[in-house]
Amino acid sequence: MSEQGWRVEVSRGCIGSGLCLSVAADHFEFAGARAKTVRGVLARAEDLEAVRAAAEICPASAISISENLSA
Ligand code: SF4
Repeated sequence: MSEQGWRVEVSRGCIGSGLCLSVAADHFEFAGARAKTVRGVLARAEDLEAVRAAAEICPASAISISENLSA
């Protein structure tokens, strides 16, 4: 199965505000005091839009999105 798409990561700068869960509940979950991604790689554009919205609202700028080149 192809891994092409976008890679999503939450950095250690996450302050645990929970805003990403409020705007993209399917894509983020808490792991202790910090958020983590439910799936590290996205394949669908609609998922990318949801995660982008979370990245824009994140007060710590802790969510990064990059093209997944490991296919
Ligand atoms: S919005 Fe940002 S700071 Fe808040 S929980 Fe999500 S990744 Fe962490």
